[in-house]
Amino acid sequence: MAEVIENEEMLAGDLRLNIGGEHFELNMTIPAAAVKPRRMLPVFQSLTNTIVARAIDRSAADGKAISCKVACGACCRQPLLISEAEAFALADLIENMPVERRSVIKQRFRDGRQHFADLDWFDRFDEMSAEAAKGKSDELGRKFVALLSEYIAQGVACPFLENESCSIYEDRPLICREYLVTSPAENCVAPRPDNIEKLPLSGSPSRAFGALVRTENVKTPSELLLIRILEFAETHSERFESRVGPAWADDFFRKLTGREEPGLAEDGPSDIAGDGPNSGGDAKGPANG
Ligand code: SF4
Repeated sequence: MAEVIENEEMLAGDLRLNIGGEHFELNMTIPAAAVKPRRMLPVFQSLTNTIVARAIDRSAADGKAISCKVACGACCRQPLLISEAEAFALADLIENMPVERRSVIKQRFRDGRQHFADLDWFDRFDEMSAEAAKGKSDELGRKFVALLSEYIAQGVACPFLENESCSIYEDRPLICREYLVTSPAENCVAPRPDNIEKLPLSGSPSRAFGALVRTENVKTPSELLLIRILEFAETHSERFESRVGPAWADDFFRKLTGREEPGLAEDGPSDIAGDGPNSGGDAKGPANG
């Protein structure tokens, strides 16, 4: 059933999904009209929170509690790849900040980006990514771990991190929502494959959304590192097409669930009609303020 919510026609309804073998019954509200992908972000953010909340419950039932704590921003010094649509959305978020705060955040981005450019880190990351695209090997895997460790060892915090908390918590990228650990929180200061136990999720919305909205703007993987988003937004224009909400959702869920055939629901056509706003629960993520 279509209903008008805040002057915008929205479609609200129930959805059954099998994500990575886990069954979800979701109540979603999505735009009825043609929109750019960033307009779908609140829907996918809420879904991510729901998937993470389920994973937290599963982990707790297995006796593994989440060790991420309030005001622990250790994971916010890692190189994070985000989606193109989120890069533009975050750049706009910064543009709309009060002038003083905007100037501080922008300076942090400039300093951080320059720090890693001086280390030639972005080029080395892109070279390794190109090598990995041709074929993976243990040797290359070790080199990647060393490169990522080098980035983290620099101790350069995400420009949004303040007092070890995320200052844009409600708007933080999907990938930040997905990162929680059951290994000791202090290990995130120097994470390695053998000292970090990430919370396993049934699916990765950040990956699905990233693949959905990638355009020819992106020439090298490092361009979409969080620390480079201002540079990216300043040197590119948005190329996204507008599509109706159900079309975005359909393609997103196909990528998330690995389903080849169109259709949102696990069994039978989706039921985008009904009532109620999305009620996906929030979950603690990194730098939870
Ligand atoms: S959670 Fe916030 S502060 Fe941490 S990396 Fe993500 S955006 Fe940055």
